[in-house]
Formats: sequence, C-alpha cells, structure tokens
Amino acid sequence: MNNETTIKRIALFGSTGSIGTQALEVIEANPDRFSAEILTAQNNDELLIQQSLKFNPNIVVIGDEKKYLKVKEALASTGVKVFAGEKSLEEVAGMDCYDLMLAAIVGFAGLKPTIKAIRSKKTIALANKETLVVAGDIVMQLAVENRAPIIPVDSEHSAIFQCLVGETRNRVEKVILTASGGPFLGRKPNYLVNVKREHALQHPNWSMGAKISIDSATLMNKGLEMIEAKYLFNLKPEQIQVVVHPQSIIHSMVQFEDGSIKAQMGLPDMKLPIQYALAFPQRIPNKFPRYDFKKVNMLNFEEPDTKTFRNLVLATDALHKGGNLPCVLNAVNEIAVYAFLKNRIGFLDMTELIEKTMQHVPFIQKPTLEEYFESDGEARTFAADIIKL
Ligand code: NDP
Ligand code: MG
Repeated sequence: MNNETTIKRIALFGSTGSIGTQALEVIEANPDRFSAEILTAQNNDELLIQQSLKFNPNIVVIGDEKKYLKVKEALASTGVKVFAGEKSLEEVAGMDCYDLMLAAIVGFAGLKPTIKAIRSKKTIALANKETLVVAGDIVMQLAVENRAPIIPVDSEHSAIFQCLVGETRNRVEKVILTASGGPFLGRKPNYLVNVKREHALQHPNWSMGAKISIDSATLMNKGLEMIEAKYLFNLKPEQIQVVVHPQSIIHSMVQFEDGSIKAQMGLPDMKLPIQYALAFPQRIPNKFPRYDFKKVNMLNFEEPDTKTFRNLVLATDALHKGGNLPCVLNAVNEIAVYAFLKNRIGFLDMTELIEKTMQHVPFIQKPTLEEYFESDGEARTFAADIIKL
C-alpha cells in the first residue's frame, strides 16, 4: 500500500479540458496515489474555481489575465496561490512543488510550458501531441539530456508504449496506428463540401475537445499522430503505417523483426491511457467498463481514403521531409480549424489552406527552437491573410 510520502503530485496543464477533467476523475478515484498540485485554464474561470475548491491545489494559473481578479477573489479564503498570463504558465511549470506534468493544453500553446517542465527534469505525461509535431527533435533531445521521461497519453501512442514494455533490445519493424476514420468515414468530397461544424464535432467513438474532434474528422489527427510517433519512438517515416479500424478497440500495434504483432486493446476511454501514464510503471485497478468479446463480434480494418482526406497526404509529406514542415503544417492547421469552427471557411477549404501555406513558408532542414517559433508565426500570418481572419 502506498503511504503519504509516495503520493505523486500532478500538475494538470489544461485541467478544464476534455483530458484535464478526465485526469481529475482518475486523481479523485486514487487519493492515496495522486494529488492535484497545479491546475491551469485559459478562459474557463468558473470551472477552474470549482476544480480548485474541490481539489485544493497548491497553485492555479488562469491564462486570460482579465480573469485574474475573479479567480483570486473566489479563492481568497483558501490557501490556493493564483497566477495569470502566458508567462506564469511557464514559470509555474518550472516550480519544485510537483512531480509529474500532465501536458493537456491544446495546440502550440502547450509547447513552452512543456519545455520548461522538461528542463526542470519533471516526468511528462504527454497529451499535447502538437508539442512533438512542432519541435519533436528538440523536445526529445532535451528530454534525454534532462532525463525527463515522456509517457504518451494519446491512446495510439500509449498502446505502442505498452506493447514496447519489456522489448528494449528488440528491433521494431513497424508500428501500425489505428484510426477510427472519424464521423465522415466512407464519405466523398461532394458530401464533405457542405458539412458544418456541428456535424464535424460529432465523433462516433470518443468525446474530445473541439480542435482534436475536427482533426479527427479531417484525418489530420492521424497525420499529427504519425509525426508524434516518429519522435516518441525514434522511427523512420517508412516504419509508420495507418489503418482504419472503425470500432477503436485495438488502439495501435507494433510489429517486430520476427513478424510478430502485439496489439493493445480495450474500450475507447481516454481515462485508461491517462491513468496508465500517471501510474506508470505500475498498473492500478479501476472500475471502468471492460470490453466483452461475447458482445461485440466484428473488428474491421481498411485502408484510409487519402483521395478524399488529403490532410493525411499533406501530413505524410511533412513527416517524410521533416525540418520545419511539420511545424508549419501544425500552425496552419490550427488557423484552419479555428476558421472552420467559426464558420469562416468550409470543410475542404482547410486542406487547400494547409497546402498553400506549406508551399509558401521557406523550408529549413534543421531549425533551432527560435526558428520553429518563427516558422509557426510565419505560417499563421500567411494563412490568416489568405482567409482574411
Ligand atoms: P480541450 O480543448 O478540451 O482543452 C484544452 C485545455 O487547454 C483547456 O484546459 C483550455 O483552457 C486550455 N487552453 C486552451 N488554449 C490555451 C492557451 N492558449 N493557453 C493555455 N491553455 C490553453 O482539449 P483536449 O483536452 O481535447 O485536448 C488537449 C490535448 O490533448 C490536445 O493536444 C489534444 O490533441 C490531445 N489529445 C486529446 C484527446 C482527447 O480525447 N480529448 C485524445 C488524445 C490527445 P479553457 O478550458 O479555459 O479554454
Ligand atoms: Mg489519438
């Protein structure tokens, strides 16, 4: 049994999001193992306050500085320290008061706090895939130098990670990332041209934040995940394959040199990979529903339709060319998704915008961190200009 001294102190960066709130459920169910030490939100002051009153963290950060006073006042009678603004996020990430960062901010915004945590030698449970898409080589190098373990939370990467436990000496032939296919599986461009945000936000198997839901509908999510896998597991682009598996029961697979394939399976529930990352290297019991082979009887697999979902082709191109191209892809994709969610551009326009921007921003083979930031900015400005954001 764990005692007081072995409680892992968790910093939840993005505690008000889909991943953040599910992580708090895991923490709540395991008070003898985890404590919520730091909570952060961007805009959602109400939920941040509610979470703070319930979990009594050491520190909270509200990104939007206009909301500082409201949060500060609401927590005045507690011992919770309140900070605000982007800079504070980074500062707090460097503090001593926690052991493990759950990196669950969405998008490029998650990069700097995560880098700070790595430099502070923290363990990272990484949900924020954009961190590795933007600057995967630098982030992984920093993690090695600082001996900061990076444990994936993304279900596919958690699956691969779990398949690799005990296989350190064995060569991986390839990894097979499974994709649900999203809400528009089987649809063609003549249908997609008219789809609206409400429709695109309805994922068949997972309930997630808005950005990743759109990425799943366009298959960009799988593209980002290919790039994430390359850096996490030090793979060559040719070693990463995508297969559509609509039931989302097999979360991904690893094929070894002898042709043997390991798969990790379970019901689609993000609490499972979240719990695994928080508790690693232990597995801990829970009451989540179990997959029942007697009830569901079909697992299907098919090739992704890259003629229709061209984002996957663009992401594969970025994966192969490397350099600053994944960073540019990510930046313009964030702009495209934002514009689509605001009903400013259509579903298929997103792909066109991404392609144009990837062609526009000058290629850099081995960017510095500063150059990654510049490429990100350049891509955003160019894309926002085209669609007059
Ligand atoms: P959500 O949109 O639900 O939550 C995002 C969190 O980040 C919120 O706490 C939000 O605060 C905060 N945030 C948003 N913008 C900023 C910013 N500019 N600066 C600081 N904080 C910010 O996202 P998800 O939980 O769905 O996803 C989080 C990450 O995990 C993403 O990178 C996603 O790709 C990845 N992921 C998610 C999965 C899922 O099932 N949801 C599965 C696998 C990976 P506020 O609430 O105040 O806006
Ligand atoms: Mg995933």
